[in-house]
Amino acid sequence: MDGPKFETLAIHAGAQPDPATGARATPIYQTTSFVFDDVDHAASLFGLQQFGNIYTRITNPTQAVLEERVAALEGGTASLVTASGHAAQLLVFQALMRPGEEFVASRKLYGGSINQFGHAFKSFDWNVKWADPFDPGSFEAQINDKTKAIFIESIANPGGVILDIEAIAEVAHRHKLPLIVDNTMATPYLCKPLEHGADIVVHSLTKFMGGHGNSMGGVIVDGGSFDWSADDRYPMLSEPRPEYNGIVLHETFGNFAFAIACRVLGMRDLGPVISPFNAFLILTGIETLPLRMQRHSDNALKVAEHLKAHDKVAWVSYAGLADDPGHDRMQKYCPKGAGAVFTFGLKGGYEAGVKFVEALELFSHLANIGDTRSLVIHPASTTHRQLADDQKTAAGAGPDVVRLSIGIEEVSDIIADLDQALAQA
Ligand SMILES: *Cc1c(COP(=O)(O)O)cnc(C)c1O
Repeated sequence: MDGPKFETLAIHAGAQPDPATGARATPIYQTTSFVFDDVDHAASLFGLQQFGNIYTRITNPTQAVLEERVAALEGGTASLVTASGHAAQLLVFQALMRPGEEFVASRKLYGGSINQFGHAFKSFDWNVKWADPFDPGSFEAQINDKTKAIFIESIANPGGVILDIEAIAEVAHRHKLPLIVDNTMATPYLCKPLEHGADIVVHSLTKFMGGHGNSMGGVIVDGGSFDWSADDRYPMLSEPRPEYNGIVLHETFGNFAFAIACRVLGMRDLGPVISPFNAFLILTGIETLPLRMQRHSDNALKVAEHLKAHDKVAWVSYAGLADDPGHDRMQKYCPKGAGAVFTFGLKGGYEAGVKFVEALELFSHLANIGDTRSLVIHPASTTHRQLADDQKTAAGAGPDVVRLSIGIEEVSDIIADLDQALAQA
């Protein structure tokens, strides 16, 4: 018999009535530290011989429920929640890279990730090579003996384009590299990258997973499939760790060694931990993830169809549209819907874009996606402003581009607001 379905896991995975009080909702364990039974117990926790709580930077019972839930929804072996999506990316690469090494990333990414990889990571001497998201061969062309991983987004920011995950996984595995997929825009409700060859999934839980625009969080999901000991390229996993009496993490923890490495080395020593309160809010948000994502996607499709027929709109890029160039990939990877986020171009270009954004009333003008509310941004003047013009266009954030994150309001109200703003633009 198959296990519980996605909708059931979204509510129950990882959670039980609280053993101390019977509380049915997962309590917020707002504590920094946990009392040891005795000295031997403390020693075995510190030595990784036994699992248990020591200090909230390393584990916490509220975080643990969220970790089990996300791992179950993605089909992974284990996960680690973090303070933000960017923190998750930092810890993933810290486990894989040494100074002077490289990874290959899709050129179409969240603007903040382009900055993190291209600038902040340089100070660790971790070097990104950019590849064309629609050409698996361009990923392969950038691989050399210093390459440690490939990184893509399943549905890519800001344009909502869907990548051919299986083709890129095939390139990664031919070169014995793990494929890391940022699944923030799709969520596991729409797409499960681990089923298509990804080895590690990361999220900004800040977006659709939490879903209500009220808390920051991130997660690293271990797919459990990658052989970290095939050669000596991943010493953090395959070599004895001096911090833990010579334990070899892959040997000791097997198919969840990557999640353990990110926790007991990365999180322990770098420290970007999520608060128990934010973990609780995100956990509550995830209970309604299937309902919200279906509604987000259904609303977005209706809005995209409406805009496409509007005479002030030059183009609409949404993989849910039947004639979109990405529609085949959508049917393969995200058959239930193409998500909430897409871009369109106004015939009036930059000026019309600015006027339009300012005329909207129901939509909030801000730098976020994945709220219950409908959101709008003009990437060229905001999220992608720091990029050079050619980088902007390459990232799908040219001057005429408006990005929408369609909320779960009644769709006729969303469309009415867009129409009145288009009339003014
Ligand atoms: C927001 C976002 C991130 C970064 O996450 P934070 O929680 O803001 O740190 C990474 N990837 C994608 C696709 C995002 O939308």
